[in-house]
Amino acid sequence: QQASKPKVAVSPLVLEDVEEPPLNLYKPKGPYTATILSVDRLVGPKAPGETCHIVIDHGGNVPYWEGQSYGVIPPGENPKKPGTPNNVRLYSIASTRYGDFFDGKTASLCVRRAVYYDPETGEEDPSKKGVCSNFLCDSKPGDKIQITGPSGKIMLLPEDDPNATHIMIATGTGVAPFRGYLRRMFMENVPTFKFGGLAWLFLGVANTDSLLYDDEFTKYLQEYPDNFRYDRALSREQKNQSGGKMYVQDKIEEYSDEVFKLLDNGAHIYFCGLKGMMPGIQDTLKRVAEQRGENWEEKLSQLKKNKQWHVEMT
Ligand code: FAD
Ligand code: NDP
Repeated sequence: QQASKPKVAVSPLVLEDVEEPPLNLYKPKGPYTATILSVDRLVGPKAPGETCHIVIDHGGNVPYWEGQSYGVIPPGENPKKPGTPNNVRLYSIASTRYGDFFDGKTASLCVRRAVYYDPETGEEDPSKKGVCSNFLCDSKPGDKIQITGPSGKIMLLPEDDPNATHIMIATGTGVAPFRGYLRRMFMENVPTFKFGGLAWLFLGVANTDSLLYDDEFTKYLQEYPDNFRYDRALSREQKNQSGGKMYVQDKIEEYSDEVFKLLDNGAHIYFCGLKGMMPGIQDTLKRVAEQRGENWEEKLSQLKKNKQWHVEMT
């Protein structure tokens, strides 16, 4: 499919030459001091909670591959071990190895601000808010940030077959690694990576205002209708067939025949986000498999054996 708009050239191409992904170049005892370039709210006013897109300048010193994570050490003391620094928190990188400016010097994160509501009063208790996500969402351009990593091999994009199918299932900020994949596939012009397969994103968020990177994804849909599919599950706006909340697993069920056929033909399937989504998804896939006269446990172990099954969530 011919794109209506030329892809963006990237540099430096040396980032394609390495055969193994970079791993743990910076550790918690010797983190890299990077600089915040920008912090932008990603969601609209009716989204429950806040999610920010944060661009970090690493000067080309902390290279990473799509699907990896950075660690962030928030300033201050570890409350559980006074006198020692805060623990590292991991964040999936939401950009490609070239970063949002295509120069290999930045990494972007998609961070949900963790807030705490008292279960008895229902009131927000600021004294118990999440340390690192609030530090990140409150940071300003020019602020320094201690990072570690990159880490993670589970969510690396297999690049051996440029015509492969990639089915991506995300809840909320779990979309981060997939934004990186999709920019690599549809936005950047990398001479050694010419994507001609199918990428299918299922994204679950609360409502329209909570959608993340929707403008980018919608653009790919217009420019690459044969190579990209995008399905959204808006849990607090749409209902599933039984009248319950519309979750990603309900969308998968809607398209289960196609999803199963693609998996049978070697598609990769990725899950990222809330770990609570996994039991519901497994139940759905098992039910569909049974309806098709297949044994889900056998199918799952085959998918794992073939390295088609990729799961990372918290
Ligand atoms: P913490 O300070 O660690 O607190 C954790 C929670 O406990 C908060 O909700 C806080 O409100 C609550 N809390 C604090 N005090 C109390 C108390 N006294 N009693 C009860 N509760 C309390 N997150 C993202 O947003 N984007 C990502 O891309 C992302 N990627 C990840 C990738 C990986 C591989 C992993 C493992 C995690 C990822 N996370 C991501 C989650 C992230 O690492 C953090 O766990 C998250 O941001 C919360 O960290 P925090 O420091 O803000 O909260
Ligand atoms: P939200 O809490 O906003 O949830 C996103 C959507 O998932 C909402 O529509 C929510 O519906 C829905 N949802 C809730 N429970 C289920 C369920 N059991 N099955 C299916 N869908 C469900 O997402 P956040 O952005 O706040 O959180 C994302 C999570 O992903 C965080 O825990 C973060 O740590 C993790 N994460 C992990 C990564 C990794 O491991 N690499 C990367 C990025 C994020 P409703 O609220 O209406 O019930």
